[in-house]
Amino acid sequence: MKKMKLHSIKLKITCWYTFVLTLVFVFVLGGIFMSSEIYSEEMIREELLDEVKDLEEEMMRYPEHFPRQDYVSYYDDGVLLSIYDENFQYINGVIPDNFSLDTPFLDNEIQTARKRNDTWFVCDNRITLPDGSDLWIRGIHSLSAIVLMIQRLKVLTGFAVPLLILFTAFMGYRIIMRALHPVTVITDTVNKITDSSDLSLRLPAAAGKNEFSSLSETFNKMLDHLEQQFLREQEFSSDAAHELRTPVSVILSHTEYALAELSLSPEARQEFACIQEKALQMSHLVSLLLNIARAESSGFHPSFEEVDLQIVAEAAADELLEKAEKKQIRVDVQNFMLPPVMQGNTELLSRLFINLIDNGIQYGHTGGYVRVSLEQRGTNVRICVEDNGIGIPEDKLDKIWNRFYRAEASRSVSPGFGLGLFIVKYIVKCHGGSISVESRVGQGTSFQILLPLSQSSASA
Ligand code: ADP
Repeated sequence: MKKMKLHSIKLKITCWYTFVLTLVFVFVLGGIFMSSEIYSEEMIREELLDEVKDLEEEMMRYPEHFPRQDYVSYYDDGVLLSIYDENFQYINGVIPDNFSLDTPFLDNEIQTARKRNDTWFVCDNRITLPDGSDLWIRGIHSLSAIVLMIQRLKVLTGFAVPLLILFTAFMGYRIIMRALHPVTVITDTVNKITDSSDLSLRLPAAAGKNEFSSLSETFNKMLDHLEQQFLREQEFSSDAAHELRTPVSVILSHTEYALAELSLSPEARQEFACIQEKALQMSHLVSLLLNIARAESSGFHPSFEEVDLQIVAEAAADELLEKAEKKQIRVDVQNFMLPPVMQGNTELLSRLFINLIDNGIQYGHTGGYVRVSLEQRGTNVRICVEDNGIGIPEDKLDKIWNRFYRAEASRSVSPGFGLGLFIVKYIVKCHGGSISVESRVGQGTSFQILLPLSQSSASA
């Protein structure tokens, strides 16, 4: 999704500048074609007038040469010249093949003559020779060649320009991709940090000094700050757990002694039992916090061995049998894997099953079920733990993994610390796997876990 967005920015920029480029091409080329049409027509008119004038001057100067073809040039610079008597009868000269001969003679004017696909500019000039005879000089210049040339140019640019625009758009897209590459790197690294919750990761330093390098530096500074905060928080909960361990065990041993050895009134016994129950809860929390602190310490690397998941899951279900029976909840382990074996840490995987089954029972309806299934999916094992209990509201689904988080509905259902799923997620991470949850309020919850069968497939 995030990738898509980045993609669309690249596409958006490419589309915008391609659009602007197309507009520029259309206006510039349109302008060039229009002005070249006007300019070339203007040139032809001038050429025509010049040639007619030249012939007139020549005839006036050397009337004896007229109308001999070897003295008089009737074709010059694309202009065809011809001579007519005062009654418009042809005397000599050159006329284009298809030219319509009934084109009227207009003195000193340029007119346009057309016949089928041909177009000409025609310039007529009436002159009086020194001997007093009146003549007409007619100059004709074809427009077809120039029109054809401009048409061909239009067709050529019609093909070339879209290709040029496509090429520029493609090259532009590649340049934008290169320019935005640091953003992709930043996004990937931030995603990696989010997915792995590994605050020790840092963004690679961007080459040169630019907006992206300062963005990376700012991100890295923020990560330094977050990591320090996080480490301080870790240190605090670990210290607090250590400090609490001794007083809690003292309270527990004293209440145990009081309940076992002292002769107490029923009220006092009830008070001591209550203290004992709360102290047990505290001791459980303290040992959870100590376990988390140990797991989060950088030197902790769980050892991996061959684990029979069916045995571990069934042992976890047995451990919680009494609790399940109290709520008449059936716990089933279904194995579809042969053999149900993977490389992992038995202790951690056992904790994973206990936490998930425990939640299924805790947040299950009386008479409901918790179903654990094991399945092989390629090089992974898929563990599914589902129940038909109270479910989790959709807007809380991404929060349940946070430490100490408890959805409101569950607080009234049972006591708890909100650490179970945090630990489960941590165990999944230790095994290089992934976990997801689907839930519907009032219908149930299903946790799906994918773990690599062996550590070689995890790193592959
Ligand atoms: P705890 O169970 O101690 O509250 P967890 O970390 O195990 O802590 O669970 C966090 C929260 O997620 C629980 O408080 C509960 O709101 C919700 N939750 C977890 N599992 C289930 C489940 N199977 N059904 C309904 N809600 C659940």
